[in-house]
Amino acid sequence: MAVKRDYYEVLGVSRGATGEDLKRAYRKLALQYHPDRNPNDPQAEARFKEVNEAYEVLSDQSKRQRYDTFGHAGTSGMPGFDFGQGFGGINDIFDMFFGAATAGARGGTRPQRGSDLRLDLRISFEEAAFGVDRELTIPRAESCQECQGTGAEKGTSPQTCSQCQGTGQVRRAAQSMFGQIINVVACSRCRGEGTIIEKPCRACNGSGHIPGQKTVRVHIPAGVDSGSQIRLSGEGEPGPRNSRAGDLYIVLQVKPHPVLQRNGTDIVYELPLSVAQAALGDTVEIPTVDGPEKIEIPAGTQYGKTFRIHGHGIPHLRSGRRGDQIVFVRVVIPTNLTEEQRKALRDLGGINGKPQHIEKGFFDKFKHAIGLE
Ligand SMILES: [Zn+2]
Ligand SMILES: [Zn+2]
Repeated sequence: MAVKRDYYEVLGVSRGATGEDLKRAYRKLALQYHPDRNPNDPQAEARFKEVNEAYEVLSDQSKRQRYDTFGHAGTSGMPGFDFGQGFGGINDIFDMFFGAATAGARGGTRPQRGSDLRLDLRISFEEAAFGVDRELTIPRAESCQECQGTGAEKGTSPQTCSQCQGTGQVRRAAQSMFGQIINVVACSRCRGEGTIIEKPCRACNGSGHIPGQKTVRVHIPAGVDSGSQIRLSGEGEPGPRNSRAGDLYIVLQVKPHPVLQRNGTDIVYELPLSVAQAALGDTVEIPTVDGPEKIEIPAGTQYGKTFRIHGHGIPHLRSGRRGDQIVFVRVVIPTNLTEEQRKALRDLGGINGKPQHIEKGFFDKFKHAIGLE
């Protein structure tokens, strides 16, 4: 699957670029990659196409708006992304893809169906940990009431195309040096649709769709992470002439937590301790996703010491088994000391011009605790 680049990136402009900025960037690039200037250079040709496509979408106010909201999946008339599997139910199936979502252009003919839509959704750290149900209102086309989605004016109906007998395809025989080759191509008369509309519906200009919006319920399961995708089958744009609707992809972005960090199903927390707490021990209340927990800090705790609180991590998406919270100790060295405090520290001893003896570096211990070594 080819990766479709961001249109703004293609043109080298910011997301806030004005129409003038776009035009200038487009002219420069179109000249640079024009096939006349780059004969027999497929790379330049590909760039030229890419630049044209990007400008075509971004220079059109409504197309640009849809692209900004839904990414490549929102630009109708373009191939949306498709991960190539058919699904039945709504909400009951979700797919996980780690890493950035890629919207790819597909070559060749695609079965007739509506475009896929993409919605980026930000959720909180806790929502990712425990799951959440959300209601989302998405702008998307709906079937035209006037023509029942057929695109033909009320009282008329689309006629079967005589050139392809309604199949939408024609076979073409061609001679080549290897013998006869049969190519199956989309019918030119009906543009592959199999039917012809003689009188288009005035309410929808023959498209069968009118702009609308829909509220969908989505269950976000516990354990998702940034980049996780949930597919709602059949919740994308309706297909042309009442054919199958596309899918809606919800791409999740998890907001960072102020003090907790995820490492797979484990949660890492950096615990700042005073020199006195580390040296003499203390009972400390720390934040977890399940609320505050008390942990015992034994006397003589070193910088970099880690504690593992079992079962307070993130649930595994499939098994539901929760990871741990790993508490990493950071000893905070005081800076503004009173004379009395300075004396107390001097009395501790150790100012002898030599490095202090420690068993193992704190970073090694930390790596070991979170399973990096
Ligand atoms: Zn209509
Ligand atoms: Zn036809």
